Amino acid sequence: MTTANPDLPCPHEGFDVLVEVTRLTAHDGGPVTGFSASITAACAQCGEKFRWIGVPAGLLANRPCCSVDETELRAPLRPASSDPDFGLGIPGFAIRAVR
Ligand SMILES: [Zn+2]
Repeated sequence: MTTANPDLPCPHEGFDVLVEVTRLTAHDGGPVTGFSASITAACAQCGEKFRWIGVPAGLLANRPCCSVDETELRAPLRPASSDPDFGLGIPGFAIRAVR
């Protein structure tokens, strides 16, 4: 095990990753209509959060998105045995940057 040198930038050699899977329903107690994984990662040494690259901000049923601050990946997923269109009827939103 190495000791971190406070005079050097953190090499980000280890990570704390949190994955939460949410069961989506149209209303409380209703049937499960989809699943969504929330994934965040931070350096285990210095605590710096990591940002996701290449995904729009938002929440969509058919493609991954991220939180507005880009630190949470929101990825739809389905059971391996389900039909390919499972969960695609869930409304969502995406935010596009205009430059
Ligand atoms: Zn670090």
